[in-house]
Amino acid sequence: MSNIGFIGVGKMGLPMMNNLILSGHSIIAYDHSEDALKNALKKGAVVADNIKEATSSQDIVITMLPAGKDICDVYLGKDSIFSAADSGTLFIDCSTVDIGSAINVHKEATRNEMYMVDAPVSGGVGGAEKGTLTFMVGGTEIAFARAKNILGDMGAKIIHAGGEGQGQAAKICNNLLLGISMVAVCESFALADKLGLDRQTLFNISSNATGQCWALNSYCPVPGPVPESPANNGYVAGFASSMMHKDLALSQLAAQSNGLQTQLGALTEKLYKNFCETGNSDVDFSGIFEMIRK
Ligand code: NAD
Repeated sequence: MSNIGFIGVGKMGLPMMNNLILSGHSIIAYDHSEDALKNALKKGAVVADNIKEATSSQDIVITMLPAGKDICDVYLGKDSIFSAADSGTLFIDCSTVDIGSAINVHKEATRNEMYMVDAPVSGGVGGAEKGTLTFMVGGTEIAFARAKNILGDMGAKIIHAGGEGQGQAAKICNNLLLGISMVAVCESFALADKLGLDRQTLFNISSNATGQCWALNSYCPVPGPVPESPANNGYVAGFASSMMHKDLALSQLAAQSNGLQTQLGALTEKLYKNFCETGNSDVDFSGIFEMIRK
């Protein structure tokens, strides 16, 4: 069993941390938010007063933070997380961030004689709670071998995507697909409404036909067909629209800097930008159905 520092115990981090505790690991947690720390305490973690305390003398340190700028602050800022850790500590960053920031963090880890993987996840809060996440891992074979068992305590599929930053590359490509497919599912239900076709009937047909996809089958954006989807809970996130917009913007940045046009991706990014700018940043990303329907 390992001693693990866990930084960022929000919507995803908290249930991931809980599965590590259930697997017998000792956790010291840190988060900016007092409420998040109270939740971590309730799950059985020790709570740290600052990042250094959560990092020193740990075998492994996991970060689950919102965006690239948070990762740069924590890993590359003047009080870098690396400065408090023993050399040889394994760092696992599960946040979704831009590839450039991920690679810079890997370089700094190597300079400080640490092991590092970027290991973003797919599967949402439900997958984090059930321990069924998919991890897309970037880093050396040695770092991947060290990270694999711990990731297995939080997920069902652990895939080595390639070298440094390739976990983030896989995640950005996946969420490009997810954002486009969510908008497509919303348009399909909006059209069904106009045609007088019952929503449940459309679900029963398309979830068993060629239109099936995760956004429809597991995360249906209209109330009813998938009881655990956020549509049945007033679109409380889940996966916030601001996060989906961030990931789509990352996909567009990556596409443009590699000379590729992704036209559906560009349009979907604009739709989510508009949705966020009209007061819906914290709404679950499936809540865009309400904007499309209108
Ligand atoms: P969240 O906002 O619920 O949690 C992030 C936590 O990090 C918050 O509690 C915040 O207080 C804390 N935090 C931010 N900066 C910090 C810092 N410098 N030091 C300490 N704590 C800090 O976000 P989330 O939904 O858990 O998402 C986290 C990451 O996981 C994001 O990169 C997101 O894109 C990715 N992700 C989310 C989902 C999902 O369904 N929510 C699914 C897959 C991937």
